Amino acid sequence: MLSQEFMVLYFLTLFFQRTLFMHRFKCPSCQAESISIKDKFRLGWWLTTRCGQCEARVAAFPWTLMLLFFLHTWNVIWWFGLYHFEGGGQYLLYMGIGWVLIELINLFFMPLCSLRRKTES
Ligand SMILES: [Zn+2]
Repeated sequence: MLSQEFMVLYFLTLFFQRTLFMHRFKCPSCQAESISIKDKFRLGWWLTTRCGQCEARVAAFPWTLMLLFFLHTWNVIWWFGLYHFEGGGQYLLYMGIGWVLIELINLFFMPLCSLRRKTES
């Protein structure tokens, strides 16, 4: 029983190491897979990062970022509202699950764009 759970945990850890933390995202400027999952995560919070290959400044696409920001706001207001008016801790749990799901959408479906100065030669 215990070893079964251990095996599941072991494979989950392997899965996350292989697919999530080792995953690299393509730079929109030079197409090299140079953006780490940590940098991609930062982009979801309106921050920019720099491509290690071509030095381009990379940001998330602003319109989808706005949509994601709206989803975050809606998620918190909806579940926290239910928690406040209906009571029951499960709504806070749903809010946490929703938050994680939105972050996963942010990581894997957020298009990127490179920021370039117009005067750059
Ligand atoms: Zn690049």
